Amino acid sequence: MSEVRVRFAPSPTGDPHVGNIRTALFNYLYARHTGGKFIVRIEDTDQVRLKEGSDQAIFDSLRWLGISWDEGPDIGGPHAPYRQSERLELYQKHALELVEKGMAYYCFCSSERLENMRQIQEAAKKAPMYDRKCLSLTPEEIQAKLDAKEPYVIRLKVPREGNTEFVDLIRGKVSFENSVVDDQVLIKSDGFPTYHLACIVDDHYMEITHVIRAEEWISSTPKHIMLYNAFGWQPPKFAHAPMVLAPDRSKLSKRHGATGVKQFKELGYLPEALVNFLAFLGWAPQDEREIFSLEDLAKEFELERVNKAGAIFDMNKLDWYNGYYIRHISTENLAQRVVPFLEKAGIEVSDQEYLVECTALVQERMKTLAEAPELLDFFFTEPNYDKELLIPRKSDVETTKKALIKCREVVEALEAWEHDPLEKALRNAAEELGIKSGQLLWPLRAALTGKSASPGAFEVTLVLGKNEVLKRLDLALDKLSK
Ligand code: GLU
Repeated sequence: MSEVRVRFAPSPTGDPHVGNIRTALFNYLYARHTGGKFIVRIEDTDQVRLKEGSDQAIFDSLRWLGISWDEGPDIGGPHAPYRQSERLELYQKHALELVEKGMAYYCFCSSERLENMRQIQEAAKKAPMYDRKCLSLTPEEIQAKLDAKEPYVIRLKVPREGNTEFVDLIRGKVSFENSVVDDQVLIKSDGFPTYHLACIVDDHYMEITHVIRAEEWISSTPKHIMLYNAFGWQPPKFAHAPMVLAPDRSKLSKRHGATGVKQFKELGYLPEALVNFLAFLGWAPQDEREIFSLEDLAKEFELERVNKAGAIFDMNKLDWYNGYYIRHISTENLAQRVVPFLEKAGIEVSDQEYLVECTALVQERMKTLAEAPELLDFFFTEPNYDKELLIPRKSDVETTKKALIKCREVVEALEAWEHDPLEKALRNAAEELGIKSGQLLWPLRAALTGKSASPGAFEVTLVLGKNEVLKRLDLALDKLSK
């Protein structure tokens, strides 16, 4: 068998949607699984929908997720260029070849005429179809119109009889009646090819063996097969992966919340978590395992195990994966990853080792990297809080003051800066004062963190260090005296 060659062919229309990236991931995994090649091709022939900077956003998203490619616009390859806008002549040439063979034709119909026709067909509940008016133009009429520079498109002369069939690697046999397929536009009036023409010319010349894409493209496939037939080329194999759906089973879109890869990055999701989660949107391994690195996925991924049914994008599941990976990467690694989030929140980190110590205390409870500033800020800046926070529910100002003064003494006198001696000394102190340990530990923790929820008093004390702890206790005592 020849080498597997698959491609991800995004249109550069902004921050890539997770549904598209799931398609990229399936292609990547299939290529790595089979030892084949993964190609990135930019399909930028729809000039109206282009968004500046999207190419870069696509590359950045893939790289961030660890998805690498073997050929592409930025790295070149044997079939360069990999950007359709740089291949326009090729499409022109092939469209004209079909015109010469009588398999495609010029159409000079105005957009008003086409629109009119569409409305009439719609009112009659018929599928919109071009009525082939221009198919009856004589060669002389065509030449005259071309000479007069009348705007035109080139259409494929779709066979109206019979069916177009193919075996989808995920869906099995798929059949479309040719009579419902419109005469596809191949070259638009701006001279650019349509998606259909460009896609199949490129898939052919780039020697793509398997087209793996989302189900929404399945109705394009008969048109593509007709084009392959018209050129006398062998079509690739097709695999249409299930759509990525919102929990209400509608197509996942912006109104459901974050859908762009960059958004998930900014929300503090780990690429490992997103990849693992995306792989399970429509695919499942043979066993019950849920945790897979990219390499493990590549080992396991088979098209036979991709489902037909739509895949629900369940944010709770993504959160679960994210929490899992946050807890399972090393604290050093996590500390590095939270830095940009802290910096964005105006927290300067100058001592990475100190950050690691702080991070260790919140690693268990952090659900996204974006929570880092909220969880860690008090380690870097003096806390800001109301004095009421210092006073436990079953205590009062005077008891709290006494407790904090005692804490100060204990901390000042503590020699071994370690957990057990600190805990013992603080618990003894509470006993000496005749108060419950909570009446002492709560104010201490609140004074250090300024929060009602945080890591425990002992851990925070040890990480902040003697000077800082004394300073914050003084601040708390000050607040209570006012
Ligand atoms: N350019 C199409 C897209 O935006 C490619 C579809 C296909 O894979 O054929 O997804």
